[in-house]
Amino acid sequence: MIERYSDFSLLPYNTFGIDVKATRFVEFESEEELCEIVSEGIAAPTLVMGGGSNLLFLNDFDGTVLHSKICGAEVVVESEENVFLRVGSGMKWDDLVKFTIEQGWQGLENLSAIPGEVGASAVQNIGAYGVEAGEFIERVDTISLADGSKHCFSQSDCQFGYRDSIFKHEAKGLYVVTYVTYRLRKKPEYKVAYGNLRQRVEQLGGLSPANISQAVRETRALKLPDPAELGNAGSFFMNPVVERSLAAELLEKYPEMPQYKADGGIKLSAAWLIEQCGWKGKRVGNVGAYAHQALVLVNYGGATGQEIIELSDAISLAVKEKFSVQLHKEVNAISCEN
Ligand SMILES: Cc1cc2nc3c(=O)[nH]c(=O)nc-3n(C[C@H](O)[C@H](O)[C@H](O)COP(=O)(O)OP(=O)(O)OC[C@H]3O[C@@H](n4cnc5c(N)ncnc54)[C@H](O)[C@@H]3O)c2cc1C
Repeated sequence: MIERYSDFSLLPYNTFGIDVKATRFVEFESEEELCEIVSEGIAAPTLVMGGGSNLLFLNDFDGTVLHSKICGAEVVVESEENVFLRVGSGMKWDDLVKFTIEQGWQGLENLSAIPGEVGASAVQNIGAYGVEAGEFIERVDTISLADGSKHCFSQSDCQFGYRDSIFKHEAKGLYVVTYVTYRLRKKPEYKVAYGNLRQRVEQLGGLSPANISQAVRETRALKLPDPAELGNAGSFFMNPVVERSLAAELLEKYPEMPQYKADGGIKLSAAWLIEQCGWKGKRVGNVGAYAHQALVLVNYGGATGQEIIELSDAISLAVKEKFSVQLHKEVNAISCEN
């Protein structure tokens, strides 16, 4: 059933805990319902949101927020090696991860406990512990907000990159993701090289999707604040990729600086850069950089989106001045005036 609300509080719908309202908030449970909403005409501006775990609202949203409640997961093709699972965009991401582990399908375990919904996994190309969702996405079904037509994007159409996809560029704001089809493995290929993941998995009894999932959950719980207790949207900034020449200069000056090979240059640790600028654990009024992970900006209670942006600007400036490196936001800042 289509649910329509006016003057709708988004406070419980964004993990930063910013107290803003949407003029209109519309939820749908099927592609047919979404097409009906599109054909009636949607009052602009429009925002498609999932669980609000990567959004920062800068003010009330004087427009229409659309939210998918399309759920369910269906095996569409199965072979000896793979299962192709088509999943509704409104399903909670972590419920999907748990479901695939219960079924004995492998691939998503490193992505355990990431907040949010299935639709955004394709938009954001979520990643953690050496794995990205895009590696497993076979196809993304969408509906055009312009005319309600269906468009399917293959894995290569999606142009997945580091926390990036076509849905953040050419296709931004044009489509609603309705289903995502994942290609999961029956024969395992584990990735446990990240940090001390392998060590913890061994302690838990050896390599299996369930043990990797548990090790990831434990590590995340130690490092990341629970949005139910402390408002946040996970990593606020992306790890910057810089030119090799700048990376070499920086390494000469800061021999302990973590650096990793990446497409197009050298990836630096945004958390390390921020920490070196003295921001880790620092609080300014209602906001601050989390004490256990400098990359996570937190709302200690009652913060506005503007306060978070001011903090992020101050942190970016400090990093730019000290290291000549520009940080870019991972979080989507939403402003009706933009
Ligand atoms: C504590 C914490 C830890 C986190 N850890 C990680 C992590 O390890 N790795 C990681 O990658 N991310 C992480 N995140 C960020 C966040 O969980 C992901 O970005 C997630 O994919 C956002 O999902 P969502 O459903 O909440 O999307 P939202 O935040 O609501 O939206 C995110 C973007 O997707 C778009 N969108 C959402 N649904 C649809 C749809 N159906 N159709 C079209 N567009 C859509 C929105 O317009 C927006 O641009 C973390 C966040 C928190 C709070």
